[in-house]
Amino acid sequence: MDIQNLLDEGKRIVKSYGCFFADTFVEQRKLYTSFVIGTSLLCILLAEISQANSFRGWYYNLINKDIINKSVEYADGDKSGQYGSFLTYYRYNAFGASNPEEVDVNAPMVALTFDDGPNPEYTNRILTVLTENYSHATFFVVGTNAEKYPDILQKIVLSGNEIGNHTYSHANLTDIDSAEVEEEIDKVNRIVKKSTGEITTVIRPPYGAYNDEVLNQLQQPVVLWDLDTEDWDSRNAQTIVENIITNIDDGDIILMHDIYESTAEAVELLVPRLKEMGFQVVSVGKMTEYKGKELELHKAYGGVK
Ligand code: ZN
Repeated sequence: MDIQNLLDEGKRIVKSYGCFFADTFVEQRKLYTSFVIGTSLLCILLAEISQANSFRGWYYNLINKDIINKSVEYADGDKSGQYGSFLTYYRYNAFGASNPEEVDVNAPMVALTFDDGPNPEYTNRILTVLTENYSHATFFVVGTNAEKYPDILQKIVLSGNEIGNHTYSHANLTDIDSAEVEEEIDKVNRIVKKSTGEITTVIRPPYGAYNDEVLNQLQQPVVLWDLDTEDWDSRNAQTIVENIITNIDDGDIILMHDIYESTAEAVELLVPRLKEMGFQVVSVGKMTEYKGKELELHKAYGGVK
């Protein structure tokens, strides 16, 4: 099987099933045609033609870098089952030439953060554009929404993003007593733990409101922001993007809300634009790690500089 045949076959499959033919690359001295699939944001399918009118697939988990489902045979024309997963288009850059997930710790980076979700429509749109661009973010979820959408919580974690705690009921922590503060935080942790097996790593108090008492009580670092997009106010994607582009700086933590359509739209424009400008888009936890810093308990952080 030569390269041209593989390419032709890849194009044929794309045409038939609507997936995006990405590239060919060599691994372990075998040539694979790669596709980005739609059922999971985590996987690409490495396909190899085993015989005429059929091809073999392996699911490759981009996060764990391991093959999670081996040697599935697909007959040509079989549109049932796994073929259904080919329907979504995902952009895919230069796999094999370099690891697109690799972060250059010496290059500029920013953290995107989203408050008040998850939202079934907009959080999903944001996760898709992040994944398409090998980018990540921190989602500060509100408990009342989090308990409604355990599947989105799972998707956030599985696609390599971070979940932060934004309290159960979006409470102003300076207005309630310490028992209530504990309840507001713990309830979210229980919901997230139940859905994802993990607990939140950072806390963002609603309205950015905290005092020394609250800060001393909280058992995770407080993460605020240093670039407020005011997306809730403008509700205009272009305005949000311009605001960020003109003010962005290495180490910034950007505040947005994944409960507005205009914000989802803004993120779709913003993430590719930031990458063009040379910024890597990461979660707060990762940015801290990459910059060799540590978020300390009983402290509040704007950016990571
Ligand atoms: Zn909020």
